[in-house]
Amino acid sequence: MSKKSVTSLSAADLSGKRVLVRADFNVPLDDQGSITDDTRIRAALPTIQYLTSNGARVILSSHFGRPKGDDFASRVTNKFRLTPVATRLSELLGQPVVKTDDCIGDEVAAAVSAMKDGDVLLLENVRFHPEEEKNDPGFAQKLASVADLYVNDAFGTAHRAHASTEGVTHYLKPSVAGILIEKELQYLQGAIEVPQRPLAAIIGGSKVSSKITVIEALLEKVDKLLIGGGMIFTFYKARGLSVGKSLVEDDFVELAKTLEAKAKEKGVALLLPTDVVVADNFSPDANAQTVSVENIPDGWMGLDIGPDSVKVFEAALADCKTVIWNGPMGVFEFAKFAAGTEAIAHSLAAITKTGATTIIGGGDSVAAVEQVGVADQMSHISTGGGASLELLEGKVLPGIAALDNA
Ligand code: AMP
Repeated sequence: MSKKSVTSLSAADLSGKRVLVRADFNVPLDDQGSITDDTRIRAALPTIQYLTSNGARVILSSHFGRPKGDDFASRVTNKFRLTPVATRLSELLGQPVVKTDDCIGDEVAAAVSAMKDGDVLLLENVRFHPEEEKNDPGFAQKLASVADLYVNDAFGTAHRAHASTEGVTHYLKPSVAGILIEKELQYLQGAIEVPQRPLAAIIGGSKVSSKITVIEALLEKVDKLLIGGGMIFTFYKARGLSVGKSLVEDDFVELAKTLEAKAKEKGVALLLPTDVVVADNFSPDANAQTVSVENIPDGWMGLDIGPDSVKVFEAALADCKTVIWNGPMGVFEFAKFAAGTEAIAHSLAAITKTGATTIIGGGDSVAAVEQVGVADQMSHISTGGGASLELLEGKVLPGIAALDNA
């Protein structure tokens, strides 16, 4: 699925053109409304600057938070306005960014007509209109009506067919991929389609149920599959071990057995932790002890992988040329149960230095590598948790499928 890139458009294609750019500016705010992490805004800069430097007039759109309500009037809330994003973006670009109070209508049309080449305009939160998530064609047409062409650079929402990600492509030609989406595809698709081997995936997180499809898809691609997090206890139960009060999904015990059998059949090394850190309750200051997986005491719950497992996982990763990581090894939000996740973050940083490609697949794993301070030592950190999982599962992302082919 090779898509036409914005970088295939030259100044002749872009100069004086009004370009609608869908970005993902859904950044976290603190109680005072200040942005606590501007990674997503920075991630959109290469595309914006490519366009402005080629004389385009850049009209940015994004969602922000989850406004609730049946219509525009009930959805508009100050805390979901993109005003802080406009301010930060203007600082990062070193140029004014005008922001409108809606994303469609007369005010937007007037603001766009006032634009000069190289100007940047930010439209208000598209999710103030319920039609956005319904991918309403009339709304998509209104959004598209002020532009000549379209660039999608919002990887984090590319797995959703919304008006600003999919709908608008029916009204704007060309519709092309931004630089961020191109990079995400290069790493994530590259890792599963043409990886340097051995290829390993590390899958963690709370539940097997939410990761089954990705585990099944990865079993077809990887050489090694390392499993951690809460989902390991369903696998142990399938092996007939006692797991105490650990998280278990009884409905998935049979499936865990099937997955282990499938791994064997495919020649994939499926590795489970050999020891776990167990707690007497689910809290940051619970009493903790490390036990082998055969000796989980009654009444205790496993909240992290143990030091022996870390060694086993490190040894398995040492010769890997490509590693994809999604999901923490334990309850890393509690300091007492963060060691396993942190150790994996460090070992990925170490193998990246020796030439391996390491890809962090969004969400909690990104928080973990940032917590450890090794984020800048990974090959690629995905800006989309859900979208990266769906891509690894081999699904078609509607926001990308709708773009023009290269
Ligand atoms: P997910 O959203 O499925 O990737 O899961 C992430 C969550 O899994 C994090 O909030 C972790 O605290 C949680 N988690 C990881 N290991 C365990 C465990 N052993 N028991 C319960 N929750 C866990």
